[in-house]
Amino acid sequence: MQEAKAEVLGPARRDPEQAFWDPAMQLADREHLRALQCTRLRALIASVLDGPVPLFSRKLLDAGVTSPRDITSVDDLSHVPLVRKQDLRDSEASVPPWGEYRFTDPRTCVRLGTSTGTTGSPTITLWTRHDLWVEYESAARNWWRMGYRPGMIVTHAHPGYLYGGGMMLSGAYEYFGLLTVWVPPPDTDELAEQGLRFWMKVKPDIPFMGFSTGRFFEVAKKLGIEPADAGLEMKGIPGFGLGNKGFPLMTAGAECYSFVGGPCGKSPGAHVHEDWAVVQAVDPSTGKDVPDGEWGNLVVTTLDRDNGLLRYDLEEACAILREPCPCGETTIRGLWGGRFKDLLLCQGKRFQVSELETALRTVREVARPVLEYQVVRPLQEDAPLVVRVEGPAEGSSPSLNTSGAQAGPERSLPSGVPGEVRAMAERCVAAVREHLGVEANVEVLARGALPRAGYKANRVVDR
Ligand SMILES: [Zn+2]
Repeated sequence: MQEAKAEVLGPARRDPEQAFWDPAMQLADREHLRALQCTRLRALIASVLDGPVPLFSRKLLDAGVTSPRDITSVDDLSHVPLVRKQDLRDSEASVPPWGEYRFTDPRTCVRLGTSTGTTGSPTITLWTRHDLWVEYESAARNWWRMGYRPGMIVTHAHPGYLYGGGMMLSGAYEYFGLLTVWVPPPDTDELAEQGLRFWMKVKPDIPFMGFSTGRFFEVAKKLGIEPADAGLEMKGIPGFGLGNKGFPLMTAGAECYSFVGGPCGKSPGAHVHEDWAVVQAVDPSTGKDVPDGEWGNLVVTTLDRDNGLLRYDLEEACAILREPCPCGETTIRGLWGGRFKDLLLCQGKRFQVSELETALRTVREVARPVLEYQVVRPLQEDAPLVVRVEGPAEGSSPSLNTSGAQAGPERSLPSGVPGEVRAMAERCVAAVREHLGVEANVEVLARGALPRAGYKANRVVDR
């Protein structure tokens, strides 16, 4: 067979045995990185002031920054006011459609995406070729570290169209040199089946990993497909089990920095690409960094992009770890602790919905084939936390008679609850008490009673 022609769209070839994708940057000495950040930060400030980019230039002038020379080190960022999602929304609303925060003419860009809009109206993100290159190179560092190599077959089920996430992931895989199988998000069982059947024909070398992994397992079981035949396995991302708080900080959202960092699996957190971003955990009341290892607001300043963001506060929890990592990378590591909007407050305890999920996962009967649950956002602090969780799949427990049940959350198990179901609910209550220290009221529903999502499921409901 003829060899494919040399790449013009892709990066230079690497020796598959080399340990890092970009050793010059990933192993750079700290002083060098700090100096590079300062140079690139000044360039960003210059384009904000010269552009001008009104949304950011107003913030700079508020902080008394009138020239890039006013920035002597990255530490000076603490004087620059934070910019939040709502600022971007307001800007787009007052000067539609692009707002006053663009660094480039939209017609010099090659890609557009909107945010998911899960926390308010979506905003528009634009990328030039160079911006995409920064993302693709960043992703390449992460995947190389995880053992991916060009020539492998990979798959994903990210949403597409206006939401830019799926295109970004596909593009980054292609750039890296992977053969990409993009299946639809498993919003319905039929769509999940399309993915499963295709994977049985073209089995990915890297098993599917994503928010909807559980959905594919669930539908495979319904169809009598052996998950391994479709290449499915329950395999986590390295580094997720390390440390006892937070997840590796792998993304700062498509609107800011899709591939901000990646875990090495040797110590907690994700190595942050510091040459392309200043990532801070900030106390929003002072604008200053919180001490290392403590939770603050995730604040990102992107560097060396055509379309940048300056002091963008994602309103998510982040902690920075600076001690050297045994893997040899010299960059700081970031931990992610969830969105502040998703923090639940109940009986005096604050916790993330993911912590509730961890608690429920310890109850075997509700965790298989996949954990499906909902929690009602607590309004009265002292009331028990209301949790709904689906019981085992039909057939796996003969005592659960769910025939004739209606669709929707009211499709609970029949009254006169069998002892087995009550015991299951009690085990969930005990798990929530043990992990979160709160009292819960757990209702066990029939399998399939809760709505399914092909991407991120909505776990917190209002009633
Ligand atoms: Zn490391």
